[in-house]
Amino acid sequence: MGILSGSRILEELFSNTDALPTESSRVQNETELSVYELYKAARDKNLVNTIKLNRESHIKYVKDGLKGLNKYLVSLDASKPWLCYWMLHSLDLLGDDITQNLVKRGISTISKLQNPAGGFGGGPGQISHAAVTYAAINALAIIGSKEAYDLIDRETLYKWFLKLKREDGSFVMHEGGEVDVRGAYCVLSAATLTNLVTPELTAGTAEWIKRCQNYDGGIGGEPGIEGHGGYAFCGLAAMEIMGKTDLLDIPLLLRWATSLQMQLEGGFQGRPNKLVDGCYSFWVGALFPLLEAIMTRRQFEKDVKQRNLEVTQYIAQSLFDRNALQEYILIACQSPRGGLIDKPKRGADYYHTCYCLSGLSTAQHHVIYDFERAKGKELDSGARSLLWEEEVTNRVVLGDPNNLIKSTHPVHNIVLSKVRKMIEYFYGKREF
Ligand SMILES: [Zn+2]
Repeated sequence: MGILSGSRILEELFSNTDALPTESSRVQNETELSVYELYKAARDKNLVNTIKLNRESHIKYVKDGLKGLNKYLVSLDASKPWLCYWMLHSLDLLGDDITQNLVKRGISTISKLQNPAGGFGGGPGQISHAAVTYAAINALAIIGSKEAYDLIDRETLYKWFLKLKREDGSFVMHEGGEVDVRGAYCVLSAATLTNLVTPELTAGTAEWIKRCQNYDGGIGGEPGIEGHGGYAFCGLAAMEIMGKTDLLDIPLLLRWATSLQMQLEGGFQGRPNKLVDGCYSFWVGALFPLLEAIMTRRQFEKDVKQRNLEVTQYIAQSLFDRNALQEYILIACQSPRGGLIDKPKRGADYYHTCYCLSGLSTAQHHVIYDFERAKGKELDSGARSLLWEEEVTNRVVLGDPNNLIKSTHPVHNIVLSKVRKMIEYFYGKREF
């Protein structure tokens, strides 16, 4: 459908404000206006069908960062694996080669961050942390060589995962650290890629995540906390890994997720009544392939006649406006100097570059879960991750056809082929 490519009238899409303005309504109006100006210019110049992803300038932006970061980024010293992952994943999505030199540097950087007692720290000598361990494993998956895989000490990693586990099934982010649903997702995603998911590791976790879902359908960081796009992704993806999505109220989560796509901006907000932000293009955008798979799976369990009708409908249409999200990313989130941004008038950073591109990929590609191949088989989490594949006939590429980037895995956020390669390495060759 789209905002500009659809039949909607741009000027009618501003949100209604009452006579009592607040700081929130003021910044919402300001944001809408800044996006409107860009959309209006694109509409007046009839650019919608030719709009371009500035691929070369984004590649240059990332590569310049790989040469060295400026002093203002010293605060990211505890996020080295994140920087590796954001940059490598961006290059991978954009179709740029991960050169031998990059492979060597990536392996050398990450190898210095692994701790003898298991897991990875954010910088040399720093304690292991679930989020940076997730980022380190993802970066190694993108590098994708035997040397990268063999760097992971799976034995100590597994022992350390268990140290993060609490009796109620939740995970802390680091020993002595805070509990939140990111811990469960980061541990389970990394454990899936390295074949470390066991009943011992997952005991009680799905029941704990269920408690994080709120009355409005969103999933919060822990039970009783407001739902949030990032936490909702972590909660749902972790449930998918464990094959326990049925514990969640899926229709309610779907209603919450669809309400987060903004009517004028076309991008997503992370929570109701908050501003649009490019990074939620993935955190919220990737909820939809997961939700679609869950709903389609439920239909598969119904009688066949009903199933064929409803499944076809799900696959033919999308649960979110894929054109509108691409309009927001391509028109409002590309920095003229390269890199992608949160919203107009902000500067680019590697985090938003990675997640805007991941969201763009999610909007362009229809990645589905292949139920036919799963039928009648006992599936572990590695096998389930392998069953995601792109339905090539259902691509939506806004603007220049060369805007197409690679398809990303909706559970791990790594290019699909890299997930397959790593799983085949750690589980042995399998038929799917
Ligand atoms: Zn953001």
